[in-house]
Amino acid sequence: MLIGALEAGGTKMVCSIGTPQGNVLQRASFHTLTPEDTIPQIADFFEKFEISALGVGSFGPLDLNPRSSTYGHITSSPKKAWRDFPIITRLKEAVGVPVAIDTDVNAAALAEHMMGAGKGYKSLVYVTVGTGIGGGLIVNGEIVHGLIHPEVGHMILTPTAMDSMPDGICIFHKHCLEGLASGPAIEKRWGLSPTLMMEDHPAWDLEAMYLAQMCANLILILSPEVIVLGGGVMQQEHLFPKIRKYTHELLGGYVASERLDEEHMEKYIVPPALGNNSGVIGALLLGARMIYNQRRRGMQ
Ligand code: ADP
Ligand code: ZN
Repeated sequence: MLIGALEAGGTKMVCSIGTPQGNVLQRASFHTLTPEDTIPQIADFFEKFEISALGVGSFGPLDLNPRSSTYGHITSSPKKAWRDFPIITRLKEAVGVPVAIDTDVNAAALAEHMMGAGKGYKSLVYVTVGTGIGGGLIVNGEIVHGLIHPEVGHMILTPTAMDSMPDGICIFHKHCLEGLASGPAIEKRWGLSPTLMMEDHPAWDLEAMYLAQMCANLILILSPEVIVLGGGVMQQEHLFPKIRKYTHELLGGYVASERLDEEHMEKYIVPPALGNNSGVIGALLLGARMIYNQRRRGMQ
């Protein structure tokens, strides 16, 4: 059986074919234009294969409440052409197979939980630090949706005294995590792309402090068994030891777990074990899980 996977991003759409076990066989990517231009390109790609389902990890925010009249719609996205777009219905019509959808970060969190850095644990947080910051949460082996879905990237942080841009850049909250620590926030603060910054640039110490605030908040609220940090900015591997150190300091020894001891933190705050394949593998798993659940219900 083959499953289709779509990573629906603000700049590109990555279409893949794979197995229900998460093995990726083929992939193609298209620029994200308007829905009218983009959906047919996606349909053309998948038409070439006999897929049984399509799993989608999408940018958001998304309405993921199955009882809502706007279930499977992209809601208040800053991308105007996609705002209020019924992505699940339109993909079902265009591709002609059942579609399972979740946020891009929830898909990646699911993949890391089942096959990557969180294998063997019941809880995990996956955060991507890139153009935006987003996080997916797994608790008791399930993706957390709650009211809508968590918005880890918009948690409000305390700007540090040494920050020359303490107001941040988020149009909704100013000094939230994304407003202070996303790739574009780093670039605006220092007038230099983070891709060009040397390891000793002061930007990284500040970045690590903000990401440590995030980790400490996540640990205090959710008590996850592992925190996975991915995305473009986290390509700077030297950030990891700094984030671990500052997280440890912020917690002040209050949370009593040896996993949070300085010498064990290396296995607690980690890069994605699946590299940049977490999203696609997660989308495959979403599709496979939907078929499995449908078959199980059919047998009852
Ligand atoms: P997106 O979030 O757009 O899906 P990425 O996760 O690659 O894609 O994030 C892009 C952001 O990350 C940009 O702001 C870019 O400057 C930054 N970035 C990408 N690669 C690196 C790198 N190697 N080092 C530091 N920052 C990076
Ligand atoms: Zn915000």
